[in-house]
Amino acid sequence: MTTAQPTIAVPDSDALHRRGLMFILSSPSGAGKTTVSRMLLERDARLRMSVSVTTRPPRPGEIDGRDYIFTSQPGFDHMVEEGEFLEWAQVFDNSYGTPKAEVKAGLKDGKDYLFDIDWQGTQQLYQKMQADVVRVFLLPPSIDELRRRLTSRGTDSAEVIAARMERAKAEISHWDGYDYVIVNDDIDVCFAKVTQILAAERMRRARQTGLIPFVRELTAPDA
Ligand code: 5GP
Repeated sequence: MTTAQPTIAVPDSDALHRRGLMFILSSPSGAGKTTVSRMLLERDARLRMSVSVTTRPPRPGEIDGRDYIFTSQPGFDHMVEEGEFLEWAQVFDNSYGTPKAEVKAGLKDGKDYLFDIDWQGTQQLYQKMQADVVRVFLLPPSIDELRRRLTSRGTDSAEVIAARMERAKAEISHWDGYDYVIVNDDIDVCFAKVTQILAAERMRRARQTGLIPFVRELTAPDA
């Protein structure tokens, strides 16, 4: 006869109420950031996207409120004046910003957010909320491969491609402002690496301080 074993309360650190984290993915266009972001959001139910506000017009297939919150320049400027952004920046010819309200409340609630923002926004978030921020930069395998990826649509003029290459090189020059750098030469391997970083960052002791009940009891000053 087997005696019923008492249920052992093993703390699942992800089920605990820890503070959320801000997971930033940056890269030059052509390094696979959009694909990796999509894979992360599809496969990790605990991660949600921070949807940015932009003055850029929607591209075909983009949905207002899902891909971006599209607005006019006066609308954007008003949000800046009202202090509604956690960060904002001019990227190429348009303005982009991260709305403050949802992320601030969500982090307190233990929600993790994914940010697809450029190096300027990353720097601002790091300055303001260093303890919550994880900065990941994706690189293409080489400049030649990047050029190949940026030309593969086959519809753009040499000038447009040259301008994209210059922007990509400018973005890459800021790679030293990141905690992790991944060379994306295989999307599945790259995704696995990003997932490992996220898993490890969720387990950081500093994010869990005081939240594991039996450890809290053991380490309480009057224990
Ligand atoms: P795209 O117009 O191609 O969607 O984005 C252009 C660039 O703007 C990308 O590098 C993207 O990461 C960046 N971006 C998108 N949203 C934000 C934001 O809210 N803040 C900042 N600083 N950059 C953003």
